[in-house]
Amino acid sequence: MSAPNPAALSDAIERRLAFADGLFQAIRERTKDSVGVTRPAWSQQDQVAGEVLIEAANGLGIEASWDAAGNLLLTLAGRDRTAPGILTGSHLDSVPTGGHYDGLAGAIAGLTVQAAFRDLGHVPTPDLTTIGIRGEESVWYGIAYVGSRLAVGSLPHAQLSTLKRGDSGLTLAQHMQAVGVDVDALGKTAPWITARNTKAFLELHIEQAPILVNEGLPVAIPTVIRGNVRFPYARCTGRYDHSGATPRIHRSDALLAVVELLRELDEFWIASEAAGAPDTVFTVGKLFTDAAHHAMTKVPGRVDFTLNFGGTTQDFLDACRERTHAGARRLAALRHVDFDLGECVGSDPTPLDPGLRRALLAAGRQLGLAEREFATVGHDASIFARAGIPSAMILVRNDHGSHNPDEAMDMADFGAGAKLLALAIAKLAD
Ligand SMILES: [Zn+2]
Repeated sequence: MSAPNPAALSDAIERRLAFADGLFQAIRERTKDSVGVTRPAWSQQDQVAGEVLIEAANGLGIEASWDAAGNLLLTLAGRDRTAPGILTGSHLDSVPTGGHYDGLAGAIAGLTVQAAFRDLGHVPTPDLTTIGIRGEESVWYGIAYVGSRLAVGSLPHAQLSTLKRGDSGLTLAQHMQAVGVDVDALGKTAPWITARNTKAFLELHIEQAPILVNEGLPVAIPTVIRGNVRFPYARCTGRYDHSGATPRIHRSDALLAVVELLRELDEFWIASEAAGAPDTVFTVGKLFTDAAHHAMTKVPGRVDFTLNFGGTTQDFLDACRERTHAGARRLAALRHVDFDLGECVGSDPTPLDPGLRRALLAAGRQLGLAEREFATVGHDASIFARAGIPSAMILVRNDHGSHNPDEAMDMADFGAGAKLLALAIAKLAD
């Protein structure tokens, strides 16, 4: 069976937008909190989001199941069930009081494409599976991409009983058991999403930056998932002194030392950008004096802070690490303070698959969409890419930022993204 013609497939998606909107509304209704939505990972709320999708899948003759880790799998059977399958989807969990579209848009897009295939009577060659992933957000268990890591076998089983949910104090294993995951069986299960059984992973996700809104474009194709270098527990220690009585040369002011380091790093970032380092970011997310000791009339003796650099090249990330260490050493001597930068963590940049990106751009041309590519932040696609599965993404315009209740995705833009996804999948699954 050859792929449906692009115009017919695009029309079939258009006719399914009301179905997709109905799924968004049903899940919002059942997972809303006072102002946004809250769907903790492995909770009743992400379970219910999955159940709404299962009910819709059942009505379409699409197979539905929960995998060994509790990720949702919705499979449209292909003609050759042994051929490496096509995987699409995104995560079902949200941050606390988060937005409705982060993650969920990708899962609903997958099911919308499957529904359009059914409407056209199109049977893909390999299986086409939509995955609703659990535990993408790091806010619940301290690490991101838990569900996708378990599926590809890159999370040690022992961590299920050491990772704890901050608000409940219960372990990941306990929360998994509460929603029906057989944790012992999971420990004995070999990775079930592999480069051998999966031909491609395509993830549609809302854009979490304002680029598409500013440029007036509905969708973009990411080039690479940024890597990062992070110092989550940096500290500068000086000495508390009387603010009026202590002359400058006798001070060990921790705050002014940190401020000078941050100014240097900001200048380094600006210079790197001017020199052509693409898609770099730098954030000081936390910066605080010790509330138990600080006062307007004291020289600050201690400042805690975080540093978070992101970039698309290893060279830039290496330079960020070196600049931070060199700056801290120099300022410690100059300003009579101690810097303890603590543990440095991070991840490497993950390029997205060039062949899949070309296929998405070609589908965009068929749909008359403007071509736009840029780097994006961490998503489950990075886990599948690192497991050797060719992976790519579609970003959909979203207003008012993300990880907040004001996320705003227009269904027309969702439609453009879902059409792009459908056309690319139809070609891949031919
Ligand atoms: Zn997300």
